[in-house]
Formats: sequence, structure tokens, C-alpha cells
Amino acid sequence: MDHFLYRDGVLFAEDVAVAEIAASVKTPFYLYSTATLERHFRLFDEALDGLPHLVCYAMKAASNQAILKTLAGLGAGMDVVSGGEYARAVAAGVPGERIVFSGVGKTQDEIRAALQGGIRQFNVESEPEMRAISEVAVSLGVVAPITIRVNPDVDAKTHAKIATGKSENKFGIPIARAREVYAEAAALPGLKVVGIDVHIGSQLTDLAPFELAYQKVAELTEALRADGHEITRLDLGGGLGIPYARSNEAPPLPTDYGALIKRCVGHLGCEVEIEPGRLIAGNAGILVSQVIYVKSGEGRDFLILDAAMNDLIRPAMYEAHHDIVPVIEADAGVEQAAYDIVGPVCESGDTFAKGRMMPPLAAGDLVAFRSAGAYGAVMSSEYNTRPLIPEVLVQGDQYAVIRARPTFDEIINRDTIPAWL
Ligand SMILES: *Cc1c(COP(=O)(O)O)cnc(C)c1O
Repeated sequence: MDHFLYRDGVLFAEDVAVAEIAASVKTPFYLYSTATLERHFRLFDEALDGLPHLVCYAMKAASNQAILKTLAGLGAGMDVVSGGEYARAVAAGVPGERIVFSGVGKTQDEIRAALQGGIRQFNVESEPEMRAISEVAVSLGVVAPITIRVNPDVDAKTHAKIATGKSENKFGIPIARAREVYAEAAALPGLKVVGIDVHIGSQLTDLAPFELAYQKVAELTEALRADGHEITRLDLGGGLGIPYARSNEAPPLPTDYGALIKRCVGHLGCEVEIEPGRLIAGNAGILVSQVIYVKSGEGRDFLILDAAMNDLIRPAMYEAHHDIVPVIEADAGVEQAAYDIVGPVCESGDTFAKGRMMPPLAAGDLVAFRSAGAYGAVMSSEYNTRPLIPEVLVQGDQYAVIRARPTFDEIINRDTIPAWL
């Protein structure tokens, strides 16, 4: 459920008409709902009620400072995957003891910055990385808390580009080798092993792969304890999917996911962390765009929008579906027509949808891409020298631009001309 609903045929974000924001901010732009962000965070938090836990928002899904502050204010931790994200989390006021650091290629500089600024734990992804963290910690005279990310070799049954839990993926260490790697970790002077980490992929629409993975983590917990390791914390990753096509998808609910976690690992007496990103931010954001032209092609009509693949790359990159709806609802009973919905970028890949049934639209009409809050703005670029589009946050009847559109001059002046030119 989200807070982008029609009132008398006009799309609202909470209590603000989307068209009103479009008139002042200019399209295209991302629009987020505070109430939806809060609701999704609380769903996870409450689903783990009764277990000591921390919900660490995977901020790579949407990392605007205002979004981070909204969630941090509710007690969220953050899952970061780069030094830049670590700095963003700190800038948003998240204390180091609520930041976990994931990612397969942490550099020494990133490790040092996190150890100096404070960190809850590093989720270690390989033996060389484990040794690097130990060395940096020793050089700073501190001890780095770590979990080791294990790869449980389960099929997450999701898009290949976002599956991470099969043995052929680059993530984590094979679970079969975990005891050996934990033994080495325990012997390294700069590390303190605190737990186990697992993350099998994103946009999972079935709980079965989670169950398989978490059962393996539970077994590993017992085995590592028998080896003498103190396992007090389990980081169970993120990945719960969202409904992108409202009409025919019903992914599992956070409550069912929480019950599954309790069933699989609740008896171990561990503190549990989860790292949801998409489910918190995805349906809390829309992308608002305007029709520039309606172009009649051979056997099809094109809706040419002012948003393009550089603003929302998910359809081009993951063959992702986004529901696209008119901001002013069509009259009931009006006949729909099939459109190819495209952006102005010079590639055929700049196609958001093919043969999509829509009410008749004309140049100047506004449309909204639903479920665009996660992996939308953060993956955008300035390809074709199209400025990064603004982000806007609504709360109740107020809204604010939380990232402004750069001017052409600001974009051009980022380049520097060498002295010989
Ligand atoms: C991407 C990622 C997440 C978040 O995944 P979602 O599908 O957005 O919930 C969590 N943990 C790690 C390690 C990730 O790489």
C-alpha cells in the first residue's frame, strides 16, 4: 500500500496534487511519500517484534539525505556499500553503531574511514578483504567487528542481474568453506567475529529461497559455535520483492517474512539484522513525466515522454515493468489504446513499455511511473547531457525539493579544460 491515490480523478501524493508539484518543479521529477516510507519501515520493524533486531535500510535503493533522515528518525540502521554511502549515512545523522558495511570490494580507504567514524560491523565478502580489514584495524589500533557473508548456493528465482546467492555469483564465500574461513578470521589480530551475513538477491517474490538460506545459516551458527566462535548476530540481508504490476502480483508480506525469520533462527538467541531496500523505498516513490509528443508510427503509436532511460534505467537494464498511469484519470468507460512509451534518448533501448494499454493521451498530459522509488534516482545519469532530475518529498500537505535540478552551466562547469587547449 502507498499514499499515491486518486481523489476525484486527480492523482495525489498524500495530501498534495501531483499536478501542482509538476507546475512548480517542472517535469520530469521523482516524488516520494514520507508516510509510505515510514509505513514500510515500521512493517519490517514490527515483523521482528520479540526478537532483538535492527532494520538496516539498504540505502543504495534511494539515498537522498532527506530519505535517510526520515528513516533514521524512526530508528533505522543503514546498510552501506561504499565509502560514499557511509559518508551520506553519517551526514544524515546515523550513528556509526547503526551502520553495517557490505559490498565485495571495500578499499583500504573505505575501511579506514569507517573504522575511524565508527561502524557496527563489516560484512566481509572474501579472505583477501578479511585480511585487509584486519591490517587496517591493527594500523589504527582498533578491532573491527565483522560477520562473514556466506553464499548458501540457493536459487533466488529472480532476474539474473540481481541474483546473488548462487555459487556462480561473485558474492560471499561458499558456505561449505565457512568453518575454515571463520577459523582464519578468529586468528587475525584486527578482527572480532560477531556473526554471519547472507543476502541472496533482490526482488524475491517467493519466501522459499529465504527459508532455504536461513536454515543453512541456522545450521552454520550451531557448527561455528561448536568450533568455539561467539556468534551473536545474524545479518539476513534484504531482497523482499514488491508488486510492480498491481494487477497480477502479490509478493509476500513483511509479516510473513518476519514469521519465517523467527521460525528459522529465533531459537538461536542472536540479534537479527535485515537489510531491506526496495520494499521500503520502491512503492514510496513515483516518477512524474510529461508527454512531449504523440507520434503515429506504422501499426503503433508512440508516447514520447520527457523522462528517459537516463532517469529510470530499470526497464532497459532489467526488462522491468512499471505501471504508468495518467495523473488526471480518464473518464470511466473511455476506450484505451496501445502505446509504445519511450523517452527522447537516441537509442531504441530507451523504451519504457511496448503496446501498453492507456487511455488516450495528448501532448502536455502528465503521467506517473509507479514503484519508481527504489533503484530509480540513484541509478540515473546525465547521458545525453540531460540534467539529473529533481527529487521531491511530500509529507501530508507539504512538499519540498530535496535535490534540485542542476543548470546546464553547473553541468558544463564540472569539466575542466587542460592548459594546452
Ligand atoms: C542490494 C542489497 C540489499 C537490498 O536489497 P533489496 O532488494 O533492495 O531489499 C541488501 N543487502 C545487500 C548486501 C545488498 O547488496
